[in-house]
Amino acid sequence: AAAAARPPGPAWQSKCPWGALSTTSISCSLADVMSEQLAKELQLEEENAAFPEVVAAAEGPFITGENIDTSSDLMLAQMLQMEFDREYDAQLRREEKKINGDSKVSISFENYRKVHPYDSDSSEDEVDWQDTRHDPYRADKPTTTPRRGFIGKGKDITTKHDEVVCGRKNTARMENFAPEFQVGDGIGMDLKLSNQVFNALKQHAYSEERRSARLHEKKEHSTAEKAVDPKTRLLLYKMVNSGMLETITGCISTGKESVVFHAYGGNATEDKVIPPECAIKVFKTTLNEFKNRDKYIKDDYRFKDRFSKLNPRKIIRMWAEKEMHNLTRMQNAGIPCPQVVILKKHVLVMSFIGQDQVPAPKLKDVTLSSEDMKKAYYQILNMMQQLYRECNLVHADLSEYNMLWHDGKVWLIDVSQSVEPTHPHGLEFLFRDCRNVSQFFQKGGVAEALNERELFNAVSGLNITADNEVDFQAEIEALEKMNEDHVQNHGKKLSTFSSDGDPPIYDE
Ligand code: ADP
Ligand code: MN
Repeated sequence: AAAAARPPGPAWQSKCPWGALSTTSISCSLADVMSEQLAKELQLEEENAAFPEVVAAAEGPFITGENIDTSSDLMLAQMLQMEFDREYDAQLRREEKKINGDSKVSISFENYRKVHPYDSDSSEDEVDWQDTRHDPYRADKPTTTPRRGFIGKGKDITTKHDEVVCGRKNTARMENFAPEFQVGDGIGMDLKLSNQVFNALKQHAYSEERRSARLHEKKEHSTAEKAVDPKTRLLLYKMVNSGMLETITGCISTGKESVVFHAYGGNATEDKVIPPECAIKVFKTTLNEFKNRDKYIKDDYRFKDRFSKLNPRKIIRMWAEKEMHNLTRMQNAGIPCPQVVILKKHVLVMSFIGQDQVPAPKLKDVTLSSEDMKKAYYQILNMMQQLYRECNLVHADLSEYNMLWHDGKVWLIDVSQSVEPTHPHGLEFLFRDCRNVSQFFQKGGVAEALNERELFNAVSGLNITADNEVDFQAEIEALEKMNEDHVQNHGKKLSTFSSDGDPPIYDE
């Protein structure tokens, strides 16, 4: 297999109209090839869609209709280079096909392609993104998401061949570029490269070389790869390839329902600044763990219409989507939380809470002075009120596990399961949150900490008077039932639970 994997081999290089091709030495075991197989197939699928069979000069992402300007040498050179790269890829594909034949185990030359299919976004992604553009709850206030996902594919291709090609000397020197950088058979033709163009091309060759190395290294050694399935791997790979992310450094957390990675942010685009450090939350696509979460989303009227129509895979995407919308609401209310960068299918990229790859500690892992502990308590009380009133949300998994201590304050994370207070179980979830918070701070020695029932009333503005847990919960359930009956009778929910006057605002 190792021998067969050696790509553009002598078999066709002699016939190549562009001249001899040098091959790099690659070490590729059969096991490597096998494990990469599915990803490669997916890549091919996409590519076939992006580049239908033979290279048609007028159809490239680079040469776009009306603005064909053939007046400058540079432009012509760029077009030629593009053309050449595509021809090279097409030849590579033919060679690949020939080698593979009907064999069950096939070899991919993907790594040797010049025009990478990831440079263009698949239409499927596009639709996916549009689907999730608006918070269905807050239609009048669209979130600031870009029109497209990560950006500049077309542009990328343009800039990828942005520099180029006159002077016989320069042409000859092209041979010194990295062997993988295909310069065509300019040597045999009487090509003249200007210094400017030569330098630009050289620069391009070097940066391509670096980019290529970076990508291949990432693909082979990244932790991301081992923890996620090939489709997800491809999504992550695209994010790096598009330049949106610089590198994915490793895994921060593997939970039952998600895997979180750290990444260094890449280049900003016209409509988006990428934070220097990012957290990538990949919602697991193994379905089992999600079954018991149905009740959160099934009863959330924001997702009601869609729920029945969706297959399990799409439901998992909805968790990611929900987290995105909820984070956006929180961000708008000024609650410290990760900032959404981008959502792609079941992968959510957000700002990283922490520094230099070290995530901020969870509240459960950090030892705070009694002063900070008290500060943290009041901050959380405040955030719970904001969350309830301004964001119309109940966290629903609030505890010292989902609060990070960073920059002298508490940050809320993990809000994919958060629901609106009028969710059929919303108040129960809130009560559970209150119990966790209350217990944590009472144990932590904050004398001022309200008990769970007081906290519940303080957050919700409700005035449940029961003085024991059993009665209290019974009242909560009665309220929920009242709301459900209202839904039955009026076809819609109460906008909010009624309360007696304004709730008290607690502050330090
Ligand atoms: P889950 O608990 O459902 O697996 P979380 O959103 O709580 O998912 O993420 C798991 C862990 O990953 C968190 O406890 C936290 O340590 C880390 N983490 C998640 N998001 C971020 C972020 N934006 N910045 C830093 N660390 C994060
Ligand atoms: Mn969590």
